[in-house]
Amino acid sequence: MPNPLDKIKPRVRELKAYTLSPDRATVKINQNENPWDAPETIKRETLRRMSERAWSRYPDFIPASLHEKLAAFAGWTADGIVAGNGSNELIQATLMVTVGEGRRVLISEPTFALYRQVTTVLGGEVISVPLDGELRFDVAALRASIERDAPDVIILCSPNNPTGCRIDEGDLESLLEASNALVVIDEAYFEFSGRTVAPLLARHENLAVFRTFSKALGLAALRVGYLLASPALAREVSKAVLPYNLNAFSQTAAEVAVELYEEALRPTVRKIVEERERLYVALQNIEGLAPVRSHANFFVVRSSIEPRRVFRELLARDILIRDVSSYPMLASHFRTSVGTPEENDKLIAALAEIFGGEN
Ligand code: PMP
Repeated sequence: MPNPLDKIKPRVRELKAYTLSPDRATVKINQNENPWDAPETIKRETLRRMSERAWSRYPDFIPASLHEKLAAFAGWTADGIVAGNGSNELIQATLMVTVGEGRRVLISEPTFALYRQVTTVLGGEVISVPLDGELRFDVAALRASIERDAPDVIILCSPNNPTGCRIDEGDLESLLEASNALVVIDEAYFEFSGRTVAPLLARHENLAVFRTFSKALGLAALRVGYLLASPALAREVSKAVLPYNLNAFSQTAAEVAVELYEEALRPTVRKIVEERERLYVALQNIEGLAPVRSHANFFVVRSSIEPRRVFRELLARDILIRDVSSYPMLASHFRTSVGTPEENDKLIAALAEIFGGEN
């Protein structure tokens, strides 16, 4: 019997699938989502606009009105914006138009697993530079890799998932100048850092910035992301994006979220950042835990108890975190998102109990 799996690229067969545990809990702090649901004002206005629109008609071929709103929101030009079905789709599209056999993609691990996954599926080679001992970007090592390996694409996540470190603008400029690679900065969590590298787009045509509505903007269920790049680069990436990729509902909700960001969403971002600082201190005070400073809405925590056991003990208390112990450098760590104050209190109390019992 012929085995159809023989036709799968060997490097894909070797790859471990990107999965997430199907566990459920009331306190869900495993996916870096906004712990507050999208505000009623955004939901109601989205539903109102959708009820006036014909559902029998296709959405826009290109979501031009969203692109224009995003241009004003991000301080960039509408023809340099591509909205997608989650930023995942745009990561994939960008790699599809750049990566094949013989192409190299430089990443800095531990980081978001999708960059390695998609590069490998497309036949490209992943060059991985580890973060430094403090789990920060090792700019000297990245520069050395640029000189040695001449990567075609560089993808850095800033703030980085899962460690929360960010790339300094000056350091990024030095990388942009040292390399002729396409440099992608994944800013899925930039709202929580209060910083963006988007102003560098005007000076560096080899820079692309990826953003999402799934985190600070509270629309993970609707799958919207966008990229900012030079119009020429945006045009090329668009060639790998399927027509009508963004459904009308998601496009409408994204437009409303951008319009109402200041009044409806920014206050929750502020609260999450305050809670991040409170949670950091509280976890630091638990013996056996060492949280790592983060610019995002999550952090990794070094744990004296095996992370898998912490995960299970928390799940037994109806709290779901992320076990990241299989990531490089994070064998003793777990990751938690910042929840609502009540959720954070529950996490702190549960961890105090688990670690208190240990000492
Ligand atoms: N980039 C990073 C760094 C992420 O952590 C995530 C979500 N986990 C994404 C991109 C994907 O976001 P989206 O929901 O927009 O596809």
